[in-house]
Amino acid sequence: MSLVSIRRATLLTAALVAAGPGAARPAAQGPGTTSPRPLAAGFRYSAYGPDYDPGPGYWRQVGERMAGRFPGSVPGAVWIVGRLKGQGCELSFPGKSADPLIQFTDEDANDAALDLFDAAGFQVWLQVEPGNAPLEPLIRLVLDRYGHHPSVVGFGVDVEWYRSVERPEGKAVTDPEARAWLAAVRSRNPRYGLFLKHWLIEMMPPTVREGLTFIDDSQILPSLDAMVDEFARWAKAFAPAPVGFQIGYDSDRPWWEKLDDPPAEIGRRILEAAPNTRGLYWVDFSILDVFPPERPAWATPTGPPARPLIGVKIYEHGGDLDALFAAWSALGIDAAFASAALADRRDFRAKAAERGVRLFLIAAVFYDPKALAEDPSLFAITAEGEPARQEWVEFVCPSRPDYRARRVAATAEAVRRIRPDGLSLDFMRHFVFWEKVPRRAALESLPNTCFCDRCVASFARRAGLELPRGAIGSPRAAASWILAEHEAAWTEWKVDLIDSMAAELVAAARAVKPDLEIVLHAVPWRPLDYGGAVRRIAGQDHERLSTRVDYLSPMTYAHMLRRPPRWIRSVVRTLAATSHARVLPSIQVQEAYRPGEALSAEEFARDLREALRTPSAGVVFWSWDGLAREPDKQAVVKAVLAERAVGR
Ligand SMILES: [Zn+2]
Repeated sequence: MSLVSIRRATLLTAALVAAGPGAARPAAQGPGTTSPRPLAAGFRYSAYGPDYDPGPGYWRQVGERMAGRFPGSVPGAVWIVGRLKGQGCELSFPGKSADPLIQFTDEDANDAALDLFDAAGFQVWLQVEPGNAPLEPLIRLVLDRYGHHPSVVGFGVDVEWYRSVERPEGKAVTDPEARAWLAAVRSRNPRYGLFLKHWLIEMMPPTVREGLTFIDDSQILPSLDAMVDEFARWAKAFAPAPVGFQIGYDSDRPWWEKLDDPPAEIGRRILEAAPNTRGLYWVDFSILDVFPPERPAWATPTGPPARPLIGVKIYEHGGDLDALFAAWSALGIDAAFASAALADRRDFRAKAAERGVRLFLIAAVFYDPKALAEDPSLFAITAEGEPARQEWVEFVCPSRPDYRARRVAATAEAVRRIRPDGLSLDFMRHFVFWEKVPRRAALESLPNTCFCDRCVASFARRAGLELPRGAIGSPRAAASWILAEHEAAWTEWKVDLIDSMAAELVAAARAVKPDLEIVLHAVPWRPLDYGGAVRRIAGQDHERLSTRVDYLSPMTYAHMLRRPPRWIRSVVRTLAATSHARVLPSIQVQEAYRPGEALSAEEFARDLREALRTPSAGVVFWSWDGLAREPDKQAVVKAVLAERAVGR
């Protein structure tokens, strides 16, 4: 936040200085200044920009969809291959350098995408955030590696991170520096160009223009008009040299979100005001919203239902049932996710049916304190050889045939007895107290289970592995061998245990009541969070599980997890991108696991708005107890649902 305000303040000052009479007039274009290159329309890409990376095919599509909006243009990309790391720059490919300011990743992150871009006629700029790393070696390393790709048109420097590592302010580029960098670029290919990027004109070299493209990435602008004015000044300052623009920042979302087709409308206005524009790049931070990944052809259509489901989790209720259902009706709550204890009550079920509230029976799967108290040998076992227990969270080993059969039979029996509208599967995963996993936790710090003898032996048999001596009888020894040598196979085994249990439960429950709607409580981790922990630790493969159920319900408890409201939408959208089921986020109503730090009504309102955004299928409040205690939050529910009804 502070960074943004600093940046905006600087920017406003600069704008005032730069603004003169007629500043917004289209830049003059003299004879012989037409760039040989057509307009490139596409995107900015970085490994850290989008919530997740749908893969090279997606980026090719985005370039093509963007270019499709501007006749005569070709797809383009500002592709970031070097990001600021520490004092220097990390290049996203393997390599060697004597300079400690230049580092490399173990794997190549760019070649597959560049191959696709070559075939699709892209113009690609390879860009770095240099920090204090010297430019000439960076240029040489990057172009030596990727210069054979015909889509590459040159090299780019984010001047905001030039000799600047704390804040994106940078150091102004001198004429000699610009000449030297361009020479380094052209020594690899005389047709290449060099781009320099900043939002302040005075950070660009004072007079050198030949061979350069000037990219403006200004943001935090109050309106489209303000953006076009500022970009026109930029374009005019460098005309007839080519300029480019990065658009679509989240800080500008309040106004661009209201446009029918933001990339097309913003782009058209920029091209009118800045005729020397040669590049329009939608930024990756908001790209998944504006260019949603296309669903694979085999995916069933799972758009949100005509009416969103508004549900509440409720575990017990001692008071008057009429008052309870009247309160729900006043708030627009039309589904109750109830514990077995409550759903078993005949009066509760009768009232729900009478009031048209759909009843979802919550069934805990591998969380079973009663079973564990009766038979502690059922405990799942961690890699340290300990029972899977942290505070109240304790888990049963997911591979015990007897426990699984009992659980399936009990669930089917509950469905037979209660005849709920839906079944909501909870604790359908391996042991992890995800509510308490810090935002920056390392994968290695998360518990891996279950290394009981039965799991270890079954895993080895299934994977066709011979267990080393001592693995049976020593979970620690088994875990260290498995995690070091066979972690990928182990993850598949874990995922299969959960997926097969879902299949068994769903089949048994639907055999009793075929129209049963089934919800699965999803750990709110996206595929790349914590190094893939959603599969590797929790054993939840959301895409696979989504083929078995009607709703995936991520427990997007943002306050507890210290995430901003926007994170809720990100999780929903990420799950929805590959889900065959509808995605129904659950949000928290009151503080949990952050004693003394209340969840305000304002934050709750923002969480709720994000939870309801497309492609969400509705929302489930966790829990009614909390909502019942806070009239101001009930008012929020009423107001937000009402504004939504009007908005649609
Ligand atoms: Zn086990």
